[in-house]
Amino acid sequence: MNCEIVTIGSELLLGHTIDTNASYLARKLNLIGLHIAFHTTVGDNHVQIRDVLSQAVKRADLVITTGGLGPTQDDLTREAIADLVGVSLAFKRELMDHIESIFRRLGYRMPENNKKQAFIPAGAIPIPNETGTAPGFIVEKGSRLIIALPGVPKELKYILNKEVLPYLRKRFRLDGELITSRVLKVTGMGESKVDSQIKDLIDTTTNPSVGILASPGDISIRITAYAKSAEGAQDLIRPVEQEIRSRLGTSIYGVDDDTLEDVVINLLNKRGDTLSVLETFSGGELTARLQRSPSSPLHKSIVIGKREQIPSFLGKKSPPTSGEIAEALAEKIRDKGDSSIGLALLGTVHLAERGYEVGAHVVVSGEAIGRSYAWKMGGDLPTLQNRGATTALNTLRLALISR
Ligand code: ATP
Repeated sequence: MNCEIVTIGSELLLGHTIDTNASYLARKLNLIGLHIAFHTTVGDNHVQIRDVLSQAVKRADLVITTGGLGPTQDDLTREAIADLVGVSLAFKRELMDHIESIFRRLGYRMPENNKKQAFIPAGAIPIPNETGTAPGFIVEKGSRLIIALPGVPKELKYILNKEVLPYLRKRFRLDGELITSRVLKVTGMGESKVDSQIKDLIDTTTNPSVGILASPGDISIRITAYAKSAEGAQDLIRPVEQEIRSRLGTSIYGVDDDTLEDVVINLLNKRGDTLSVLETFSGGELTARLQRSPSSPLHKSIVIGKREQIPSFLGKKSPPTSGEIAEALAEKIRDKGDSSIGLALLGTVHLAERGYEVGAHVVVSGEAIGRSYAWKMGGDLPTLQNRGATTALNTLRLALISR
């Protein structure tokens, strides 16, 4: 089964909106065993939408569109699909009732132009949209299928999971083979080092297959298996996961959707630890990441912008030697925040030939726990701040798991 995803909207073509629908759809369709052969994006133009869809049905068995189902003049997906299939638009009373009920619930009178959304190509199967006014629909074009879905990402996700995936599973008997993935999250190692450690697995294994996806400071290793059941897929994944874990050890910090900050917060909470943080060049990035969870045990956080502020924070007239500063600050912030662990991330940014450079130092200080790490890195400021926060979180994680 070849599938093409067509995202519709001039804002996508112009780069004003990032096309998150295409990647969401691709991942979800892939998981039920559909092969994504093409992604296409087209603007809000009747003829161009029709032509793109006409191409798509020639090369794909299933075409899924998103966007252009709204009530305004530039929402043209309905018309373009009806044109392609050679039918007119037909009024659907049940869709009209649903759209009216949404406005009633919100306490508004339905604007006249929303009536447009109760029309779908004649013969199409309507897909109700409980989360908005743009219903989807399914149209047959010869042996091919076109499914039109709303563009609002929240609505798309809802309608896809609730209506479309069950429909596709049943219609194409996709329950025969499932694709299951396990993602191992790695930090503290460069992409090429990870690659060299597991290259043989990437090159030789097919079911499950192994692949690497890298972003700054964070690497995902995806193990993907095809099997008749979820348990069967897990049985294929398990030995490969164990092999990768035995090679990469503690560089693997989590699985699937885990974030480094979630893992660190869980480790802290497990032992009843509390944390205080002092950071400099990272400008609050470390604090922000530690506060993204409501269960964060962060007590106190200070961002020092100017290095000259350090002696007064430490209650000293002259600064301690640079080797001692990070240790002293980690202890001081731990004390000031009345917490069991102090974490200090320091560094001075210099303008270099290409971008910026920082010599960074992170220290973890607490009772029966301690760790420090110093490193140099270059890049643009947001990247340096992000990598600084990642390295500080990872140093804290390593200290927590090794005590
Ligand atoms: P409605 O008009 O009822 O809101 P629609 O199906 O007509 O739904 P659009 O009007 O095309 O959808 O887009 C609605 C919103 O969803 C816009 O904010 C748009 O930027 C966003 N959107 C549309 N397509 C995508 C996409 N592929 N990825 C991310 N956002 C999208």
